[in-house]
Amino acid sequence: MTNRTISIDDHLHRYLLEHSVRETALMRELREVTAQHTLARMQIGPEQGQFMALLVELIAARRIIEIGTFTGYSALCLAQAMPGDGRLLCCDVSEEYTAVGVPFWERAGVRERIELKIAPALETLDALLADGHTETFDMAFIDADKTNYLNYYTRCLALVRRGGLLLFDNTLWNGAVADPTDETPDTQALRALNRALRDDERISISLVPIGDGLTLARKR
Ligand code: CA
Repeated sequence: MTNRTISIDDHLHRYLLEHSVRETALMRELREVTAQHTLARMQIGPEQGQFMALLVELIAARRIIEIGTFTGYSALCLAQAMPGDGRLLCCDVSEEYTAVGVPFWERAGVRERIELKIAPALETLDALLADGHTETFDMAFIDADKTNYLNYYTRCLALVRRGGLLLFDNTLWNGAVADPTDETPDTQALRALNRALRDDERISISLVPIGDGLTLARKR
């Protein structure tokens, strides 16, 4: 036995999915529609979506910001876990990709919980801060352009309440963060983020090796 995270081969991963994931037919359909997309790997897996939905329940999140919505699977997971009067603000720059998800949000009966803002997320976040929405959100899920992660972090840390949760996707970046020969801008940005989160006393953190790495940061 070892005290580190076990390696999960395809066989064990299938077992994990079969024995934990409770995905609805609608959610599966959205994943399958998205799988045909050239950028399909940007979509989170069902076990991660379910984990994030559990986090929503655990902190009873009623107001959430999502940065990077793509075709709407993570938003569907988050919105379904929120109470009926919950509000999820989805920030994305693509009308085309998010349009894939909207009919699924409607069919799931959660469309009215979701506000979709098509604009650069930094503009949306800065406008929220300027309008006095500091510490009014319970959770933020950050999953957009990696070179802006630190900028999203500073703004979301201000927008989330004490005890609220920030989630950063892709923090293991398919292992590239630990490969010193990889000096691409995205990899360097994620390394800088990981160092900054580790050293920031304003938050408690855990880098969870689910999906491509998901860092949880609770605002103290
Ligand atoms: Ca991602």
